[in-house]
Amino acid sequence: MANCAIVGVNWGDEGKGRMVDLLTEHYDVVVRYQGGGNAGHTVINEFGKFALHLLPSGIFRPGVVNVLGGGVALDPENLWKEIQTVRAEGVAVTPDNLRISLRASLLLPWHRRLDELEEARLADKKYGSTKQGIAPFYADKAAKKTVLAGDLLYPDKLRAQLKDLCEYKNLTLTEVYGAEPVSAGELEEWLADYGEKIKPYLADTTKFLKDAERAGKNLLFEAQLGSLRDLDWGIVPYTTSSNTTAAYAPIGAGMPGLKLERIIGVAKAYSTCVGEGPFVSEWFGEKAEKLREAGGEYGAKTGRPRRVGPLDLVATRYGAEMQAATEIALTKLDVLSYMDEIPVCTHYKIGGELTDEFPFPALLDDAEPVYETLPGWETDVSGARSWEDLPENARRYVEFVEKGVGCPIRQVSVGPERESIIIR
Ligand code: GDP
Repeated sequence: MANCAIVGVNWGDEGKGRMVDLLTEHYDVVVRYQGGGNAGHTVINEFGKFALHLLPSGIFRPGVVNVLGGGVALDPENLWKEIQTVRAEGVAVTPDNLRISLRASLLLPWHRRLDELEEARLADKKYGSTKQGIAPFYADKAAKKTVLAGDLLYPDKLRAQLKDLCEYKNLTLTEVYGAEPVSAGELEEWLADYGEKIKPYLADTTKFLKDAERAGKNLLFEAQLGSLRDLDWGIVPYTTSSNTTAAYAPIGAGMPGLKLERIIGVAKAYSTCVGEGPFVSEWFGEKAEKLREAGGEYGAKTGRPRRVGPLDLVATRYGAEMQAATEIALTKLDVLSYMDEIPVCTHYKIGGELTDEFPFPALLDDAEPVYETLPGWETDVSGARSWEDLPENARRYVEFVEKGVGCPIRQVSVGPERESIIIR
């Protein structure tokens, strides 16, 4: 059980947060290695219900050290607010249980501003950004126009860097978007406030992780979003701006040579998607409304109604393959209990041809879903705690999905609470 990554195999919102929360019991360290405040992991435990955006889900377990690796979009303001929210419910957050990589780049206020301006410019062609500045942040990181969290420890150098960055950013803000410029003074003030607050948590997390590995500690890597939102292998351009695949975990965490031993791909028993872009098995109207209500499918970050539909096996198998998942955790099986028949999208029809291969993004717009229908179980399964507790049709559904995805389903969740889970 030395190391493990928990990743999403679909569009995100698969229930990764609850899986990490459950498994942290067996792990000493939980690492977030990509993404930022643009998505939320919902965790329900004895402290309450939380939508975590940047904090690793291990924050609730005493003794677990949580790490924000170099690959995350570190927004000091939002991180600080999140720390305050969990502290208010009695959760300890200290430099002993939260460590931030010196190598994480800082998401600055203009990234959020640019995200908003660009979505407004795109108007009806918008990507559906959560406007947390993630795309402008990663673009700047690639262009080497950001500062590292560790630079907060070298204020003189930082001041000079910020002055140069302001000049550069103001060109885009004023000349491209006709927006107000930012002054270096404003930025310094913001950093003096939120930068100072996160400073005590900064650490050489690569050294910490290597030492932990050498000492035989168990490491858990927690991803955000899912395969279909991966910058390189997702549905471009409706992806996020970082790699959501497990292969990025060692890099984003700061341990590039690490080999992951266990990769848990989290999939929902039906499909959901937040934001824009192709979603082949999407339902509309009353059917969609019913499923959305049954699953409480509203975004953890924005409260936006999620798009919903029957399980897209074509996308899910692709997602699991791109994650190199060694096992699948299937969540929210309980939500399907109201259906007398459950359709599953097993193939796409594209230009009259039937395929079960996930196609190149440009072809998705023309893909029609082809369904196979399974009998429902029409019984409340939220109390099931063992495989045998599930009605036969529910077991058949899980087995059908397992065969379609081509990867063993080891966990099935039947409710949002920590204990509402069946381990096979
Ligand atoms: P994540 O980003 O992958 O962690 O997913 P989210 O937290 O955005 O969405 C998962 C949602 O489903 C949360 O509201 C969870 O509390 C809820 N959830 C997780 N597992 C189950 C389950 O088995 N049954 C039900 N009914 N809800 C669940």
